Amino acid sequence: MTHPAQPASQVPTVKLLIGGEFVESRSTEWRDVVNPATQQVLARVPFATPDEVDAAVAAAQQAFKTWRKTAIGQRARIFLKLQQLIREHMGELAAILTAEQGKTLPDAEGDVFRGLEVVEHAAGIGNLQLGELANNVAGGVDTYTLLQPLGVCAGITPFNFPAMIPLWMFPMAIATGNTFVLKPSEQDPMVTMRLVELALEAGVPPGVLNVVHGGEQVVNALCDHRDIKAISFVGSTRVGTHVYNRATLAGKRVQCMMGAKNHAIVMPDANKEQTLNALAGAAFGAAGQRCMAVSVAVLVGEARSWIPALVDKARTLKVSAGTEQGTDVGPLVSCAARDRVVGLIERGVADGARLELDGRNPQVAGYEQGNFVGPTIFSGVKPGMSVYDQEVFGPVLCLAEASSLDEAIDFINANPNGNGTAIFTQSGAAARKFQEDIDVGQVGINVPIPVPVPLFSFTGSRASKLGDLGPYGKQVVLFYTQTKTVTARWFDDSTVSQGVNTTISL
Ligand code: NAD
Repeated sequence: MTHPAQPASQVPTVKLLIGGEFVESRSTEWRDVVNPATQQVLARVPFATPDEVDAAVAAAQQAFKTWRKTAIGQRARIFLKLQQLIREHMGELAAILTAEQGKTLPDAEGDVFRGLEVVEHAAGIGNLQLGELANNVAGGVDTYTLLQPLGVCAGITPFNFPAMIPLWMFPMAIATGNTFVLKPSEQDPMVTMRLVELALEAGVPPGVLNVVHGGEQVVNALCDHRDIKAISFVGSTRVGTHVYNRATLAGKRVQCMMGAKNHAIVMPDANKEQTLNALAGAAFGAAGQRCMAVSVAVLVGEARSWIPALVDKARTLKVSAGTEQGTDVGPLVSCAARDRVVGLIERGVADGARLELDGRNPQVAGYEQGNFVGPTIFSGVKPGMSVYDQEVFGPVLCLAEASSLDEAIDFINANPNGNGTAIFTQSGAAARKFQEDIDVGQVGINVPIPVPVPLFSFTGSRASKLGDLGPYGKQVVLFYTQTKTVTARWFDDSTVSQGVNTTISL
């Protein structure tokens, strides 16, 4: 799809980054990057050729020879500089992000900021990549571990956090001494590329960070490539499962953070105003296109009488372009995404859910071409309905009911996904029971979107995650390094042992 007013030749192209050079792809397959509020074509992104993928991996392989031995302080200082550059360019980065992805400008700054926190974390790598040492494990013998970089690592990212999620990946991989090949989402690669430019400006040497664009074929080439040691993936469960299976079969270490259906339990003793505000923000913010969006609220007991108040609150949210002051709900990322969400709302009605608030076809003055869907609320939602069984990834909140906390917990644990969840209550006992019994990775207690800060790692249960170690935090240092255990004995004349010992001992 190309904007009719602008010939394709005048639309800027998104470059590949190979060996420190931003290069034009020779690909014959390109896709438009489109502003979802206006349909303006912002850029064209290539689907890299197999040779280009090989060249990016070869550049990373070459750079690894020296980068793996670069002093830890030198690596850390690059990320100190990068965090400063990101702060200085915050407004510009948010504007690029909103133009290509749609979320509101303040939310786009949040997207960049949550990635910036990981860059700050990477700057502290000196304290994170420490081995262990046990002195005198036998007479005169010490054992210690080295956490050594793996080699070339690759990252594959989704469209919905085009700043934060690339920043979950390449800073920690590079800070731990690896080199990296990034494959951003083909839907909104521009803010990612601006961050990559800033990383080079901050001092990331040529070849240490490379970028290829594309879709299935490029991702498959990364999964299969013999010189790539590890893959980080964030995206849907369908694609993540494929990436996990294919890349582990090729002998790689893989972490896949995947799809979600995040439930919040609302207990009747919760603070009503605070809870309804939190639910509306978490269900409809970013037009529901967050992996941690609350898409199902389970109302326990009397909390079911809060539905009209929740609908009133959702009705007040402003649907418009992300650049407009006061917008709460921006457009969906693409026409296809809008059509899919509208289709799921239609199926929800057909399946018998009660449509309490219908966000289809909102009138958005000045943005008639935008991919808008307004806040939508269904009550009486049950498993077996498409709107419950599928991740809608739009501003659609499903309401279900339970008569007790136990029933609500069982309901959530029966859903295949285990990404995020929350409970709203004033009872410490209920909150503690919830945190103990719920089988979900991120758990919020009166916190609707409990994305961990980088002192911790992002996680997930069941269909939401494959692989043992999560992104950022302490876990990712283990993910991006190989533990080597050294057992050493040094002799002097007085300790030289006598004779051959054929038993297993130190
Ligand atoms: P997606 O799975 O469609 O795409 C993710 C990446 O995979 C992209 O880079 C894309 O180019 C690539 N890809 C797409 N189809 C492919 C295929 N057939 N084979 C190989 N690669 C392919 O995801 P999306 O729509 O960009 O992002 C939304 C999804 O990501 C949602 O399911 C959301 O829950 C999930 N997500 C999860 C987390 C998390 O931390 N758990 C965070 C953000 C988003």
